[in-house]
Amino acid sequence: MSEEVRVRFAPSPTGYLHIGGARTAILNWLYARQHKGKLILRIEDTDTERSTADMIQGILDGLEWLGIDFDEGPYYQSDFIKDHIAAAERLLASGHAYKCFCSKEELEEKREKARAQKDDFRYDKSCRGLTPAQVAEREAAGQPYVIRLKVPEGDGAVVFDDVVYGTITKRYRDIEDFVIVRANGQPLYLLSNVVDDARDRISHVIRGQDGLGNTPKQILLYQALGEKLPVFVHMSLTLDPQRAKISKRSHGELVAVHFYREHGFLPWALVNFLVLLGWSNPESKEIFSYEELLAAFSLAGMNRANSVFNVNKDDPKFITDPKAINMNSHYLRTMPLAELEPYVRAELEKAGLWRDAYADERREWFLRTVDLIRARYHLLTDFVTLGRPYFADDVVLEIEEKARRKNLEKFPGLSEWLPRLGDRLEQTADFSEAAIEDLMRVFAEEVEVKPGVIINGVRTVITGQLAGPGLFEIVTTLGRERVVARLRHTPQIA
Ligand code: GLU
Repeated sequence: MSEEVRVRFAPSPTGYLHIGGARTAILNWLYARQHKGKLILRIEDTDTERSTADMIQGILDGLEWLGIDFDEGPYYQSDFIKDHIAAAERLLASGHAYKCFCSKEELEEKREKARAQKDDFRYDKSCRGLTPAQVAEREAAGQPYVIRLKVPEGDGAVVFDDVVYGTITKRYRDIEDFVIVRANGQPLYLLSNVVDDARDRISHVIRGQDGLGNTPKQILLYQALGEKLPVFVHMSLTLDPQRAKISKRSHGELVAVHFYREHGFLPWALVNFLVLLGWSNPESKEIFSYEELLAAFSLAGMNRANSVFNVNKDDPKFITDPKAINMNSHYLRTMPLAELEPYVRAELEKAGLWRDAYADERREWFLRTVDLIRARYHLLTDFVTLGRPYFADDVVLEIEEKARRKNLEKFPGLSEWLPRLGDRLEQTADFSEAAIEDLMRVFAEEVEVKPGVIINGVRTVITGQLAGPGLFEIVTTLGRERVVARLRHTPQIA
């Protein structure tokens, strides 16, 4: 039997959860679930100046909203600093690391010299050969030191196979003896990350491509510590249309997971969309249920080519990549109503449009209405904006400019006709779709206009919108009272 799959999501809480981080979390989660393995959440919070409790909470909330569940954690890296230091001490004891007493000034001088000769600066290992006595003497004199890893010398190289990027070779001579513990006793992130992964028995490190450059150094650390190497999987980057890396700094809120939540995304639609960024399946399928994704996903299908996320920060007209919006509208229009129900409810609650009866004696009406109107919707927020005429008792609605021009302004008689039609609808015994249609056609004949003039006029006044479901269905859905009240308040058309 192969060893257990143990993967981790290891965010640094120095910012909110953004779509790049969410993508990493999702792929780790999928891989764990697919292999009946474990997913571990580790908050890498050792950068205490930049990590905040709010950001940690935001990450936890975002993951929960996406539906990503963890088997272990959250662990906090800062709780394990002792382990990181102990590892450095083991490396000193085993001769894999050494104390370096070179001062900042000395190093700066050497760096300057290298710059002048147009050489890459690499630490010249001057402390690597200190004898134990020399080390003891400097320590006794209170000289500060950092701890550096002894990178093997000679012609060898670190060679490893990344699942996405293939064989990577880095010559020893191109890696300097890097610092693993600072002069103030603080372990470096590179070391902490390896020590934690080894302790947590991580089998696969699945992370962003920006971690690839550090991997050779980390492999040297694994080897020096005598730990088993994980499999490395680096995911290609997500770029904006100008080919710049998507980042919190340059794209702000537009790449935050909470932005999608607030703007009416269904979590699974976002998950589905993000999985497809940088992963191709043989059938070029776009829509995946959870089960389908578990069956189809493979690390082998992950692309080396960076993917483009069409976030357009200069165009306020569309909030995000149109492909993401289409994915959302697909789910919103087709998912089982009972699954959609709590999301719509939450939107209506936020907007003050929720009525308890919708969960009780009017539930059937509520679900039928959601089903009727969702066919044209893209975002959950549409239930509040475009759905307002259905869920609010407003008598006078805001009317879309186009609808006003096309359906009202050309027929000033409507200001008088529609209230009259309202009276008739109030009195008619039969409020079925067929009866309403007959009634409107007869009325149109009486006032000598085409039925379409009346029908479009009514649509505009009772919904404020140019397009929507069939009018007679709208009328029966809204119910007699609302329709009559709105028709009686038909605006004056100049
Ligand atoms: N804490 C790192 C980050 O947020 C993760 C590095 C890793 O996954 O190894 O970028």
